[in-house]
Amino acid sequence: MVLTIRENVPLAPYTTFRLGGPARYFLDAQTVEDVVEGIRFARERNLRVLPLGAGSDVLVSDAGYDGVVIRLLRLRGKRINGTYVYAMAGEPLPKLARELAEEGLSGFEYLVGVPGTVGGGVAKNAGAHGGEIKDILEEAYVVDEEGEIKVVGGDSLSLSYRTSALPDMGILVEAKFSLTEDDPRRILGKMEEFIRYREKTQPWKEKTAGCMFKNPPGGYAGKLIEEAGLKGFRIGGVRVSEKHANFFINEGGTADDAIRLIDHVRERVFKVFGIELEVEIEIVR
Ligand SMILES: Cc1cc2nc3c(=O)[nH]c(=O)nc-3n(C[C@H](O)[C@H](O)[C@H](O)COP(=O)(O)OP(=O)(O)OC[C@H]3O[C@@H](n4cnc5c(N)ncnc54)[C@H](O)[C@@H]3O)c2cc1C
Repeated sequence: MVLTIRENVPLAPYTTFRLGGPARYFLDAQTVEDVVEGIRFARERNLRVLPLGAGSDVLVSDAGYDGVVIRLLRLRGKRINGTYVYAMAGEPLPKLARELAEEGLSGFEYLVGVPGTVGGGVAKNAGAHGGEIKDILEEAYVVDEEGEIKVVGGDSLSLSYRTSALPDMGILVEAKFSLTEDDPRRILGKMEEFIRYREKTQPWKEKTAGCMFKNPPGGYAGKLIEEAGLKGFRIGGVRVSEKHANFFINEGGTADDAIRLIDHVRERVFKVFGIELEVEIEIVR
């Protein structure tokens, strides 16, 4: 098997924010064996490994990543066994949500508007509209830093609000979800509502990384940023969305602009409300 690992590959095109510098090494994995080989390649050279899905929750620094990026978006496939679904890490969440709805399987519909993959979704415990992946994850197939494939129970991945033990515990290559039966028309109807709500409330078509900050207990980060007077505030080519203040929009800026805007927003919100916002996205350095 010939493994194609490219050098000095710009990462911005592989992220929804479209920001940041290159990866020292980049592997577009298509099979689980590619992932194992990629990990071994990194180990032999004593390099770090960064798994990447759809890149919808990352801000890559302008300096890029001095290690091996293993992208999983091409690792596709799913199988259904009763109400259990086995999905490979690269399956896009919106596509999977629609396919499962057509099959009359409920429990995934709130992910229809989350532009990530199964791997990134589990790693970030993606959620919306009152649901989160934690509720449906049964098992995960993970390649650890030795290149060994392990099956772990969903409970042992410590999924909580937009975080988990991944990727520290390894690279997820497949996940098993437990869903329930429902009428496809009802599920599809709910999904259309979720999509309409997003289109109305979020800068859906812009270059963003989704919500920049976690909601603090009992509040909303977007509301605090808006009330601190920061809607539309800009540093360089990155600005706070007017539509939803927890989204930053890249209009031809740099990762450094985005990082400075993060710092500015955190400082301002702390000054006005005494609340420390926690960054939700992953900053890759
Ligand atoms: C417009 C927009 C709307 C969004 N709305 C929501 C929302 O409603 N709810 C929500 O939760 N999120 C939302 N997000 C954020 C994002 O889509 C989710 O966090 C998604 O689950 C990330 O998946 P990804 O494949 O893009 O992950 P990436 O951005 O590629 O990676 C995110 C993190 O997961 C790790 N990772 C990726 N794949 C794997 C793997 N196979 N194994 C181990 N670790 C891995 C990465 O190393 C990184 O740390 C939104 C983003 C955008 C741009």
